[in-house]
Amino acid sequence: MKLKAVIGLEIHVQLNTQSKIFSSDPNIFGEDPNTQISPISVGYPGTLPKLNIQALRKAIVMGIACHCDINMNSEFSRKHYFYPDLPKGYQITQHEESICKNGYIDLNINSGIKRIRFEKIHLEEDAGKSMHLENSDQSAIDLNRAGVPLIEMVTRPDLSTAEEAYQLLINVRRLVRYFGISDGDMEKGSLRCDANVSLREENSEDLRDKVEIKNLNSIRFVRNAIELEIKRQHKIYTEGGKIESHTRAYDDMKNITFPTRSKEMAHDYRYLPEPDLPQFILSQEFIEGVKNEMLPLPEILQKELQQNYELTKDDTELLIFDFDLLNYFRKAAVENNSELTMNWIKGPVKQHLNQYDIDIVDFPIDPLKLKGLLLLINNGDINHNIASKKIFPLMLKEREKTAKQIWDELNVEIKSDVSSLKQMVEQAVSMFPDKVEAYSNGKKGVVELFMGQVMKASKGTADPALSRKMIIETLNNKNSKK
Ligand code: MN
Repeated sequence: MKLKAVIGLEIHVQLNTQSKIFSSDPNIFGEDPNTQISPISVGYPGTLPKLNIQALRKAIVMGIACHCDINMNSEFSRKHYFYPDLPKGYQITQHEESICKNGYIDLNINSGIKRIRFEKIHLEEDAGKSMHLENSDQSAIDLNRAGVPLIEMVTRPDLSTAEEAYQLLINVRRLVRYFGISDGDMEKGSLRCDANVSLREENSEDLRDKVEIKNLNSIRFVRNAIELEIKRQHKIYTEGGKIESHTRAYDDMKNITFPTRSKEMAHDYRYLPEPDLPQFILSQEFIEGVKNEMLPLPEILQKELQQNYELTKDDTELLIFDFDLLNYFRKAAVENNSELTMNWIKGPVKQHLNQYDIDIVDFPIDPLKLKGLLLLINNGDINHNIASKKIFPLMLKEREKTAKQIWDELNVEIKSDVSSLKQMVEQAVSMFPDKVEAYSNGKKGVVELFMGQVMKASKGTADPALSRKMIIETLNNKNSKK
C-alpha cells in the first residue's frame, strides 16, 4: 500500500485598507489595546455594518491576480460561534456567494509547472485577540483587530508535498506585496495559514479523514508542520491504526504537532445570510475600473521583460517583485546587452546594498551613471576588472562624477605612474652595467635583481607585471644599442 499526501490550505490575508471592513475604525497594527474601536467593532446591539469599498476592491484585485471568476452577485453571511474575542457571537463572512471563485496559481516546481486551484477567495472580518497575561491566570481581550478586513483563500486539495505548500505561500505573499494589498507579514499576523492534511492510497481517489493544523504563523512552520503531519499519519496507517478528523497545533520549539480539538467538538456554524448587508451587485464598469488601476499581472510583466531585454526567467523574477529594482534596471539597461546590466545589479550593486543594508532607492550611483560605466565596458574601453575594482568604488564616493570623468582622471594617474616607473627602471639599470652585460650573455635571472631595485625605489607600489615588462624592454634596448 503506497500512501500519498493530499493537502489543502486556507490562507487568511489582512488587507491594508485605512479603515476596517464594516466601520470607519482605523485599521492600524500595534496600537495600545482597545484604542482602535467603536461601538461597531465592539458589536453593540443596534449598530449596523457598512461595507468598505476599498476592501472589496482589494479582494477583487487578488481575485484577478489569481485568475478567478469575479462574482457579480455576492453576499455576506453570519458564521456563528462563541469565542471571547468575537463580541457579536458571529463573524460576518461569505459563505455561498463569495466575491471570487475558481482561481489558480501556477507553481514552478522542479519537474515543471504545477497548477494549484482555488475554490474561492472570500471577504470577511477578523476577530479580536485574546491575550493570556504573563504570570497570571487571567486573560484580556484586545478588540483592535476586530473588524480588520480579511480575504480567505481556499485551495482545492491539489498540493501533495510540504514544499508545494511552502511555495504556494511564497507566491501568495509575493502577489499581495506586488499589488500592494497587504504587507503579507506572517509574524505580524497579516498572513495566516491553516493546513488540511490527509493521506490517500495511490490509485485511489478516496480521501481519508483529514487533520487540520491551525494558526501556523510562519511560512517555514507551515512546511515543518505539514512534513511532520504526513510522517505521523503515515506511521499510524502502516502500523494498522486509524485517524479521525481533528484539529492540531504546531509547537515550533519542540517541532511537534499536538491535538487541540476532537471531532465531537466540531463547530456547527449555523450560517445564515447577513440581514444587515444587502446582496451586492457589481457592474462590469466597476470591475473594469479595478482592472485599469491594477499593475500588469506579474506573468505579463515577466513576458515583457523577457522579450524586451532578453533576460532569463530567474532574472525577471528578481525584478518583477521589486519595483524599485525594476525601475533602476530599466534606466541602467544597456541596449542589446541588458545581461551586462543584470549581472552588475546582481553582483557589485547587490553586494553594496547588502553590505550597508540599504534598498536600491538609497543606492548612491544613479542608474544612468551606472549605465555610463557599463557602456565603457560594452564598448571595450575598459575591462570588467578596472570597472569593478577602480572606477565603481570611486563612483560610490564621488556621486556627481560620471564613469567617463573618473576614467579620464585615472588615465592621467596611470600615465604619470607609467612615466615615474620608467624613470625608476632606467635608474636601476644604469646602476648595474655588469648585470646588463650578464643579461645579454643569457643570464635572464638578473631581471629579478632589477625587479627588487624597482620595488625598493617605489616602496612596493609599482605594478609587478608592468615593471617586469619595462625592465626586459630596457635591457633589450641597451644591448641592441651596443
Ligand atoms: Mn476565515
